[in-house]
This record gives sequence, structure tokens and C-alpha cells, in this order.
Amino acid sequence: MYKVTLIRGDGIGPEVVAAAVAVVEASGVAIAWEEALAGEEALERCGTPLPEKTLASLRETGVGLKGPLTTPIGSGYRSINVALRKALDLYVNLRPAKSYPGVRSLYRDIDLVVVRENTEDLYAGVEHMVGPDAAESIKIITRRASERIVRYAFDYTRRQGRRKITAVHKANILKLSDGLFLEAARTVAAQYPAIEFEERIVDNMAMQLVQKPHLYDVMVMPNLYGDILSDLCAGLIGGLGVAPSANIGDGTALFEPVHGSAPKYRGKDQVNPTATILSAALMLRHLGEEKAALGIEKAVAAVLREGQTVTYDLGGSAGTAAMGRAIAAAVSANR
Ligand code: NAD
Repeated sequence: MYKVTLIRGDGIGPEVVAAAVAVVEASGVAIAWEEALAGEEALERCGTPLPEKTLASLRETGVGLKGPLTTPIGSGYRSINVALRKALDLYVNLRPAKSYPGVRSLYRDIDLVVVRENTEDLYAGVEHMVGPDAAESIKIITRRASERIVRYAFDYTRRQGRRKITAVHKANILKLSDGLFLEAARTVAAQYPAIEFEERIVDNMAMQLVQKPHLYDVMVMPNLYGDILSDLCAGLIGGLGVAPSANIGDGTALFEPVHGSAPKYRGKDQVNPTATILSAALMLRHLGEEKAALGIEKAVAAVLREGQTVTYDLGGSAGTAAMGRAIAAAVSANR
């Protein structure tokens, strides 16, 4: 029996998370869900959007499944997603992008993974005004964070039986910061001679991903490039409705859909639960439940291919819960 922290989230979060929980339960893996609050409901009930109890639960279970959380714009509290990543040192943002027949997209047979550094770069939050008319944001790159993200990418590639890693950078211009990232990537790559290693400059990488995505496999990169290129990869496979992700550290891993809380759809039973269901499959794989993870991915593929019980964004008229039930039924049928 695994213990997993469950954060239902804001907006459409509770609907997509309920669908994912039902699918995990259909897989037969025994999980004791430990409910924890974050975001709007936490603010209302506990007076803070990120209660210490939620962090303690994640530290204790080491694994979490989470719905999206709303970040107030302009004023209000800062992103809870960023706060969670910082507090738990979730230094890996893993973003697989795999195409599924039945989902309208530019290409077939896309199978890419972006491994994004999650803690530093321009996201370290070191910025200030220089007088009233200029602002400076500082890009921080360290050898330690660069080596550990590249090492994670190589270990992941080896574990998953994948073939190649591309390090993405802009070291031709940012000679010190991206130069350090690239140097760290080369140092780590030399320790994994069985895995092919190559380097690409980020602007060229963006064009290549649009024109020749099949040339690539696993890509590792600093935070900002990862943020942008992982969304490009989600676009290649048909968008946010089907894009899962994981935030991983040495002690804790948190799995969540890439999309946000889409407040205008809240409570309407309309949005696509696939991204959260695929995030739950990543979670099961992380727990060592490869067969159950694969079973869920196959069930998702079957329901998408059939195209009968899919949500509006995929051209169907099924609700969130109905699509979740169809996937859960396919999981049960193939166990
Ligand atoms: P969003 O992803 O919530 O929604 C943008 C649009 O994408 C929606 O209006 C909808 O048309 C579509 N969409 C999103 N998810 C979908 C799904 N599962 N099925 C079908 N269509 C879907 O992005 P946003 O509007 O920019 O952000 C809304 C809120 O979510 C903001 O407060 C933002 O900060 C937050 N957010 C949270 C996370 C997270 O928790 N990890 C990620 C991104 C955004």
C-alpha cells in the first residue's frame, strides 16, 4: 500500500483529479490518499494558500498528485506551484510529449521528453529596478544544479531505455552562464558513454523541433528554455489537454497536468482529464508500478483512438467524468 498526498487544486482541479483517482483505482494499485489543501481553498480554510501541513504531508509520503492552482495576477500571493518546487527542492521538471492517434496534431509518432532545470536561471526571482525606468533580472546558473539536472536526464534515459540526449543552450552569446551549463553537461555526458550526446543552440532547437521533431529524444536544458520548449512540444502533440508533467527532487516527487485551473470551466464537467490521468501514470511508474502505468497509457490511447467518449477540445461531447470513466473501464478490462 502506497501513501500519496492528494491536492485537488483550484478551478477545474477537483474534476480532473477525481477522474485520475478513479483511473488509478481501476489499475488495482493500492493507494492510501492523504488529502492536503493548497491554493484558494487552503487560503479560505487555513488562512494561507500553502499550509505547513501540506508540505509536511508531501515530505512524509514523498509522492503527490496535484490539480492546478490559480495564481492571482498582479496582487495577492505568489505562485504556490513555484513555492512548492522551492520548498521541496523539486529540481527536475519532466515533460514527456507523446502523440496519440485520434488527437489532432501536426505530426504522428512524436515521442519527446523535455528535462527542465526547475530551480534557478531567470526564475531564481532575483530582479530589481535600476531607477524608475530600467529593470534587471539576474540569470543564475550553478555547476551543482546543472550537473544534477543533466545527471538526472542521463539516468532517466538509461532507465527508460531511450537513446539520445540533446543539451540545449545559448552558450555562443551567454558565454559564462550557459557556458557553465554546457561545460557541466559535457562533464556528466562523459560518464555515460553508452548514451549518445549532442548539443543544440536554443533558437536552432526551436526551429528543428517544429520541422524535424523525430530527430530528437530526450532534451535537457536550463529553466527558461525548458519552460518555452516544453510548451512547444505540448503543441506538437495536440495541446494542453493531453500534456502531463512531474516535478521531482531527491526526496519528493509531485505529479500534475501542465494546464492551469481554467476557472471559466470550473464545475462544468467539460474539460479533458487526460493530462492529469497521464500524470498519474507517470506517478505509478515513479513508484515502480510499470505495468499499471503502461496499462493506463494504453487505455488512454484506446479511448482517444476510438474518439467516442472524448471532451470538447478533442471534438467530442463527453464530460470530464464520463471520459474518466471510459478510461477507467478500459484499464479494468485489460488488467
Ligand atoms: P489554463 O491552462 O488554465 O487555461 C487556458 C485555456 O486552455 C482554458 O481556457 C481552456 O480553453 C484550455 N484548457 C486548459 N486545460 C484544459 C483541459 N484540461 N481540457 C480542455 N481545455 C483546457 O491557463 P490560464 O488561463 O493561463 O491560467 C488559469 C490559472 O491557472 C491561472 O491562475 C494560472 O496561474 C494557473 N496555472 C496553474 C498551473 C499549475 O497549477 N501548474 C499551470 C498553469 C497555469
